[in-house]
Amino acid sequence: MRQQQRHLESKIYFPVIIGFPLAIWAIALFFYSGPLILSFEEVPVQRVLGEVTASLVLTLLGFNLLMTTRARWIEKIVGGLDKMYLIHRQSALLALVLLFLHVVVSPRYPEINPGKPLGVLTLLLIFTGIAVSAIPFLKRHLPYHKWLTIHRFMGAFFLLGVFHALLVPTLFSKLPLVRSYILGIAFLGTGSWVYRALLYRWIRPHRSYRVTDVKRLGNAVLALEMAPTGAPLLSLPGQFAFFKFPGIDPGESHPFTIASAPDQNRLRIAIKNLGDFTRSLQKQIKVGCTVKVEGPFGVFTQNRSSAKHQIWIAGGIGVTPFLAMANNFDNSEMNVTLYWSVCRKEDAFFDNELQDLAEHNAGLSYKLWVSDENGPLTAEKMPETRNPEKIDVFICGPETLRRSMKAQLLAAGIPKRNIHSEEFSFR
Ligand SMILES: Cc1cc2nc3c(=O)[nH]c(=O)nc-3n(C[C@H](O)[C@H](O)[C@H](O)COP(=O)(O)OP(=O)(O)OC[C@H]3O[C@@H](n4cnc5c(N)ncnc54)[C@H](O)[C@@H]3O)c2cc1C
Repeated sequence: MRQQQRHLESKIYFPVIIGFPLAIWAIALFFYSGPLILSFEEVPVQRVLGEVTASLVLTLLGFNLLMTTRARWIEKIVGGLDKMYLIHRQSALLALVLLFLHVVVSPRYPEINPGKPLGVLTLLLIFTGIAVSAIPFLKRHLPYHKWLTIHRFMGAFFLLGVFHALLVPTLFSKLPLVRSYILGIAFLGTGSWVYRALLYRWIRPHRSYRVTDVKRLGNAVLALEMAPTGAPLLSLPGQFAFFKFPGIDPGESHPFTIASAPDQNRLRIAIKNLGDFTRSLQKQIKVGCTVKVEGPFGVFTQNRSSAKHQIWIAGGIGVTPFLAMANNFDNSEMNVTLYWSVCRKEDAFFDNELQDLAEHNAGLSYKLWVSDENGPLTAEKMPETRNPEKIDVFICGPETLRRSMKAQLLAAGIPKRNIHSEEFSFR
């Protein structure tokens, strides 16, 4: 029997991540009997608020840096790397607001101190870094590799912020509990950044594969099969991995879902041509190319659900996790309907394979939905949604499809906890 997994959502994460430093401050101030101000011109509430907001900013950024280490245990707690990056984004925006508050409320002190100009510099850098990384309008206009380069500096900006906090005169330097907490966060954030920026590529284990088959499916999709040259990657259907093609782009690794059932000797991915890297891959990839695979990652697997009745909804290339699940389908007690929505019939490259799988598995039904002919796929058009309490839904596809489908399924009475989705983007 599968165990339905519950994950830490943003509505739990934020109260905890904000509540914890607030509690530390409250305890420290409760036992502190000295003055709250550092000079006579200061207002105590401003001093405390200024430093509390700074601790919150450091906490949010420190934990954001921890998230970038892609540690499995964090992924499990949060419910997938995609969800983790969502929390990471929301955290960054909250840090931006708190940083602004910190600047507004913090009392100004007259004496010269190297921490002061450092604070101004840090403020500008963190402000620009977060704005470019997290504000949707700005990041949409920045190519991914440039966005990533700017993003990689966030750890250095965080470290400057820590130095600023340690150099300027502060109330927290007189509160051992808060001081230890700030140092702990500084250590956590800096350690995570050093690990991710410098050590990760050497320490993190990867598997070596060789491309054994290349299929160009129309102009936009590439299906690659590869075989391990050493130990194989062991994944669950629905998981993804980071793939690096050293002969084509030695720098960056890209996430792709494993589109084949778990198999020691073979791994398949299907890649849609969406940008610079995927375009050059289309042109340059050949049988025999080396591939470095890191993973598996992701919790968009059937371990998420114990429901016997499920709907799987795929939009376009979002079919890849369902290809793996359908190829691994061996449960006669389950009743699954896979809807694959594509714009045009010619885009349904895996139609024959899915039809074949449905014919050979009693519990698996498959319906291709061509939206150019039938209009958009809606919850109303899926008869299975009429028994909303007992059904689990898995969705993978473009953001517009996911959002609108989720809203419709909720309106149809399917509980939120029964709707699972995967984002094909981390930023
Ligand atoms: C969990 C997950 C599973 C995915 N599975 C598939 C799949 O099975 N098939 C498929 O075709 N696509 C999949 N994608 C999307 C795929 O990773 C991107 O389309 C690809 O990396 C685009 O790279 P590009 O340089 O060609 O395009 P760009 O134009 O540079 O990027 C397009 C978008 O892809 C994302 N992206 C680009 N590079 C990276 C990177 N190194 N790491 C993370 N995100 C990046 C960014 O959001 C970017 O905005 C998946 C993405 C995620 C997050």
